Formats: sequence, C-alpha cells, structure tokens
Amino acid sequence: MKIPDFPQDIQDYLLPTPGGDLGYECLRCGERFSPDRLLYVCPSCGGLLLLEDRAAGRLSEKPGSFWRKLFDYRLLLNDQALKGVFAFHEFLAPLIPLEDIVYLGEGHTPAVAAPPALEAEVGAPFYVKLDGLNPSASFKDRGMAAALSHLKYLLRTQNLESMMAVCASTGDTSAAAALYGASLGGKIKSAVLLPKGLVTPQQLSQPLGAGARVFELPGVFDDAMKVVERLSEDYQVALLNSKNPWRILGQESYAFEVARQFDYETDNLVLFAPVGNAGNITAILGGLLKFYARKLIAKLPKVVAVQSERANPVFLYYNEPPQSRVYRPVTVGLSVAQAAMIGDPVSFPRLQKLAEIYLREGGGDAFAAIQVTEEEIMEATLQANRRGLTVCTQGGESLAGFKAYTREGKLAPGEVGVLDSTAHALKFMEFQNAYFASKLKEDYGVTSKEEYINAPRSLESLGTKIPSAQSPLNPEERARYAKAAARRIAATLGLAPAGKAGT
Ligand SMILES: *Cc1c(COP(=O)(O)O)cnc(C)c1O
Ligand SMILES: [Zn+2]
Repeated sequence: MKIPDFPQDIQDYLLPTPGGDLGYECLRCGERFSPDRLLYVCPSCGGLLLLEDRAAGRLSEKPGSFWRKLFDYRLLLNDQALKGVFAFHEFLAPLIPLEDIVYLGEGHTPAVAAPPALEAEVGAPFYVKLDGLNPSASFKDRGMAAALSHLKYLLRTQNLESMMAVCASTGDTSAAAALYGASLGGKIKSAVLLPKGLVTPQQLSQPLGAGARVFELPGVFDDAMKVVERLSEDYQVALLNSKNPWRILGQESYAFEVARQFDYETDNLVLFAPVGNAGNITAILGGLLKFYARKLIAKLPKVVAVQSERANPVFLYYNEPPQSRVYRPVTVGLSVAQAAMIGDPVSFPRLQKLAEIYLREGGGDAFAAIQVTEEEIMEATLQANRRGLTVCTQGGESLAGFKAYTREGKLAPGEVGVLDSTAHALKFMEFQNAYFASKLKEDYGVTSKEEYINAPRSLESLGTKIPSAQSPLNPEERARYAKAAARRIAATLGLAPAGKAGT
C-alpha cells in the first residue's frame, strides 16, 4: 500500500524518523556509554550491558491506541526496512536509520492455534508461535537483524572497511550470524565456534554454506563461550553472541508480535519459552514491559521459562523462595533440547533484573520457571508433530512445560498458552530418528514408546521384475509390477477393493 492510501492521521508516522536516546547501561555499576561503540561488557567494571532509551518517555506523548494502530498499518507498507522486526522501530532500536536496516525476511512468524485434536489431548487451549519460519530457521534471526543493522550503521558512519564478527553457538546463533553477515557482502567476515558433535548436521552445514570460518571446539557450549569471550576482549572483533545487547533488542520483537497477534489483549495469556543462555526470555520480558509502560497492553501476561532438568540453572534459582535464591551454574547433561543445553547462562544477570521488575509490575506469579524431563520433551515434540504442528525439540520443551504447568494446576480457567517453538523442526530431526531407532536411552535417558515409533517399509520379493533407476521396465513389466506392488500395499493398509461408482 502507498502512503497516501493510509488513514491521514498516521501517514506522517509510517516512516519513522531515527531518534531516541539509546545508550549502553551497565547492569552492575550503572555507567552509561555511547551506542556508537562496540561494547559487550562494561569498560569500567566488566558488568553486562543493556541498551536503554533514555528518551522513551516521548513514546507516551501518543496514547497506546495510536501505536497499536500504527504498527498494524505499518505491516501493509511495502518498505523493506520495515518489513521485519524494525516494524517496531520506535520501540526497538530507534537510533538506526532506515538505510542501515538489514532485512532478510525475519519476524512476523505465525501464532497457530493448536489443532482441536492436540488441544483435547493436552487438555488446555494453546497457540504455538512458529519461530522456525525465520530465514535461518530460528528466532536468532530477530536478534541478528538488529545486531547486523548496528554493525552496518557503524561501518558506514565510521568509514570502516570491514569487520570480523565472531560467536560461539549451540548451532542456531552461528547459522544466523553467518547468514546475516554474508548479506553485507565482504564487509563482514564471520567466524563461528561450535562445540564439536553437539550441533546437528543441518546446523553445521548452515554457516559453512554461508561462507563463514567454522571452528569445532572440544567440550560443551559453556567452554566455547569462554573462548569467544577471550577473543572479544583481547582482539578487534565484533561479538554476535547474546552478550551483544543489540541482539536482545531485536529479539524483543517476539513479544511485540505476540501482543499484536492477540489484538493487544494479553490478560489471559501465559507465554512459554525454552531457556538456554537466557537471552530470549530476557528479551520477551523486556519487550512486554516496554509495551506495558506505553499502554499498548493493559496487563502483563504471565511468562514461564522452561528448562530441561539436565540444564536447569534458571529453574533451580527461581524454584527457591525469593530470600534464599543463590545463582549457581550447573554442569549440563546431554539434552535433546540441545540448543538450550547451557549450564551458565550469559544473560542471567539481565534475566534477574528484568524478572524482578516484571514480578513487581505484574504480580507474584507473572514470571515463573519450570523444569521438564528429557522424555517429556521428546514426547511433546513427537505429539505435536503427530497432530499437525511441526515443532523443534526446544518447541517440544515449551509444550512439555505447558503440559507440566497445566498438570500442576497452575493454568487458571480462561488462560491460554502461547508456546515458543524457537527453531524449525527439520534442524533437529536427528533426535526423532534416534528416538525411532530406540537410541536415546544411553545418552539422553529417553525410552522410546512403541506408539510414537515409525519407520519406512520397503517392497521386496513381489514375484515380479522390479524397476530400478538403472534398468527401467518395459510397459508390460511395469504393469505387472504395479499390480503386485499395489496389492501388497493394499494388504498392509487393509484396503477394501474399489466398489462401483459412488461407493
Ligand atoms: C538459542 C536457542 C534457544 C535458547 O535461547 P537463549 O536465548 O539462549 O535462552 C532455544 N531454542 C533454540 C532453537 C535456540 O536456537
Ligand atoms: Zn559497569
């Protein structure tokens, strides 16, 4: 739609003017730094940083209804820069001019209602937000769009030739970083660090395909993270882990979208998200708080962090009464929710801060953490797929969390779950295949149930000549083969012979 075709009162606002007063703020000492720098920790005290807009008060000059209307209409505007997460420009990273915005098709993923059969099995209504439908097939693209837009902005405004960008990853961060880096031509060179053997073949092929330098490191993600932290502190590189606060800003778009997709009526929603490094959950809380502060939503929905009992530092922390909470990293065990298999979440201090505000603003049960077993994760993943929703194992973790929450009687009447399926199911199919082959017992403690197992059948010894790609059949041979094969398949499926017309 073209600008003159929009309602008059919003025409002037469809294209945002860069503004605001963004700055890095240290979570530990409170010092503030210019956004024109590349910072991942506080130069004064080493604390973690968040990007805060000190001029956000200007957003209250318009009523919440104005912003709701603007964001709805903006989706109809055909401007590439505003087609993705930057549709929420004023609330996201208002500093970035439209010319620097990197858009590869991310954001605005569907929130799909559970098919009735699945809802009936689970026993409560819910939606799944399919964040695997992002360009590199995970929610990480939301954050990468913001982080790479910031890098593009720095390259242009500081006249830099090129930059080396690095990250450590459980698989999806590196896929997203390599893809978004590649979109800037030679200006961004990417290097990614992966824990060897702990990313899926699909996740390994993604950064290779995008031309990144890929390093396979021994140990688990937490070890690789330490290496990348050293790199970013000792050398001139841009860090694309969620330590980079620009990524958190981009990932807040998930929360904005959920609000919009439920017509900003968030009262009865309960959001479930799998937690690894705690970047996503921090962003979800942060985004919801922003919309609440500017009255786009009247009530904060509940948010539940879900963890596997094999990688559960966030659960262990929030499971204690507030006065006796002590943060302790854990040593992870192998988890089918491999992308969330993190024992010492980098963003924990951010989560702590945001959750505290969230609980204060939203009430004592507005934020909670829950843990689930590996078996529950696998079965929820398979169950969703059996009923029409393709979720990754981390999406299965969200569903397992929702089921546990419901089972424990925590879901109030009228409440509806919104479950984050953080990546595409196809990235994690090796866990399904291993389940079908009953191979998850030893390493993951998961026993395969007969009802979920499935396997292809081949047609052999049909008593006719069999076709192959090298030696095709002649027409009579093919007719005989087709008849014999159809008879065999029909017998297996128990098909009745075709009747007369109309039966
Ligand atoms: C990264 C990732 C997570 C965990 O998100 P954090 O921000 O690290 O907590 C969950 N699921 C998938 C598919 C991921 O790629
Ligand atoms: Zn500091």
